[in-house]
Amino acid sequence: STFTELGLAEWAVKTCKELAMRKPRQVQLHCIPKILDGSHVLGIDETGSGKTAAFALPILHRLGEHPFGVFALVLTPTRELAYQLAEQFRALGSSLHVRIAVVVGGMDKLEQAKILTSRPHVVIATPGRIKVLLEDSPDIPPVFSRTKFLVLDEADRVLDVGFQEDLKLIFQCLPESRQNLFFSATTTSNLQKLHERYQDKLYVYEA
Ligand code: AMP
Repeated sequence: STFTELGLAEWAVKTCKELAMRKPRQVQLHCIPKILDGSHVLGIDETGSGKTAAFALPILHRLGEHPFGVFALVLTPTRELAYQLAEQFRALGSSLHVRIAVVVGGMDKLEQAKILTSRPHVVIATPGRIKVLLEDSPDIPPVFSRTKFLVLDEADRVLDVGFQEDLKLIFQCLPESRQNLFFSATTTSNLQKLHERYQDKLYVYEA
């Protein structure tokens, strides 16, 4: 199978070629068409299997069709992962002029608030820091009111009890109609709960 056959736009296929991604990995093969279809997706595959492109490509494809406001919020447990995700989004979206904001601890909060109000397309954040910004500045919650995609990267860790309070507040600022994408390297009990909550409304790919 090819990236074209998965339904991705021509520019995205070209970018994959330029990045030496010759053919889709298993997780991409299964998840990309489902995400393009509008499904909620849980993808479980090991580290290094190509999970990032499995959600970044279809999100960027949709963004290319309707670029407006914050389009995707990607939550990840650590700063380092946030920067790695941003790097892949930039590489995969290089022909789209995607505006990406990284919102993590250790940066000036006012500066981050300014970045968020300058209408980024993709916000990549750690739950703790984005929660603080949503709470502290009345300008920030409206920025997320039309978010189309919520991604939990390393979902098993993001859904851990330590982040529960942060997530509750973050989810309140997102529209109900969004598409939820969960990606993880391991199956854990909190991911099992997702199956129960979504039932047949969640497409599950497990390597
Ligand atoms: P990830 O699992 O998302 O951290 O990706 C691991 C690495 O695999 C990254 O450096 C990607 O650039 C690379 N990669 C992702 N998809 C493909 C593909 N279809 N072909 C070749 N390399 C890929």
